[in-house]
Amino acid sequence: MRGLYVHIPFCRSKCGYCDFASQAGREALIDPFLGALAAESARYDALAGSFSTLYVGGGTPSLLTPPQLQKLFDVLETLTGPFGALRESTFEANPESLDAQKAALLKKSGFSRVSLGLQAAQDRLQAALGRPGRYADFTRAFGALRAAGFDNLNADLMCGLPGQSEKDLLDSVRALLDLKAEHVSFYALEVHEGTPFHAAGVKEDPDAAAGLYEAAAAALKAGGLERYEISNFARPGRESLHNLNYWEQGEYLGLGPAAASFLDGERRANATDLDAYLAAAEAAKPPPLQYGERLEGRARLAEKIMLGLRKTAGIVTTDDIFIEFREEITRLLASGLLERDGNRLKIPESRLYVSNAVFRELV
Ligand code: SF4
Repeated sequence: MRGLYVHIPFCRSKCGYCDFASQAGREALIDPFLGALAAESARYDALAGSFSTLYVGGGTPSLLTPPQLQKLFDVLETLTGPFGALRESTFEANPESLDAQKAALLKKSGFSRVSLGLQAAQDRLQAALGRPGRYADFTRAFGALRAAGFDNLNADLMCGLPGQSEKDLLDSVRALLDLKAEHVSFYALEVHEGTPFHAAGVKEDPDAAAGLYEAAAAALKAGGLERYEISNFARPGRESLHNLNYWEQGEYLGLGPAAASFLDGERRANATDLDAYLAAAEAAKPPPLQYGERLEGRARLAEKIMLGLRKTAGIVTTDDIFIEFREEITRLLASGLLERDGNRLKIPESRLYVSNAVFRELV
């Protein structure tokens, strides 16, 4: 399997916790960006037709107007062929910028899946996060997608938010279960340097967040959404194929600022700077890189284990893994941070929240 990821680096406003590569108030650059994206994608003509999945993420891809979306899709189709023929094609949207017209365009263009940002079903929490939408926008966008014919919808959810009670979180879970969302991506708040939250002194509370996370994870599970990765829950058969490919160390090409690729054993990412991305296209040069490295031997195997252990199904323990990591695996099994399941190794579900302790042993 090979995936194609496309990063759309524009947002209406910047959320307080956001450290993704996205910029607010630069919508005038969307058309030049689409031209630069076409130039970058043309560099990968040789990979045309080799992709199984597509993920259009950001940023806020739904910020684009219908003609801009059509232009984007025309560019991507030169690499992927018709989206409807892929195993999966996902479009990321924010509720306030997704209307019935765009939902219909996504469906007509062949997308099979849409991921909507919710984070919390309480307007006061959405306001505290600095998000432009409100819960009514989410239910309206969700309804528009259902009306357009989508039967595979994800919602992003967060816990550990300032002022968020356990009842708030469980109410948000209940709302998603009532809407019969097929997939939920669920993260604890992280406060990164350089974000408005960090500047305002917002603090993470990992202990409180861990308790909240487990309570909500149990409610999701009771509602029919199985946890199949540290932060992802799905109804059976609705797991994200594009993301599973990352966790199985499959190949992927990333286009756009900050987009990462893993091709032919080389891992690299474009620089995050939008202006530098546009300038490179203008000069008929490839986008500047943030990093590029070839993963070989123990490093490649360590990454394969760490990615694979993110899945609740864990990894198949092949001979090369055992030979190279026998000591570490033995220690982790003894401490209960890993468990055996037939020929597989996995992190027990009760320890997934502290998976970083496992990963630290392996690097
Ligand atoms: S919508 Fe997403 S990408 Fe955009 S600012 Fe908010 S968190 Fe960041």
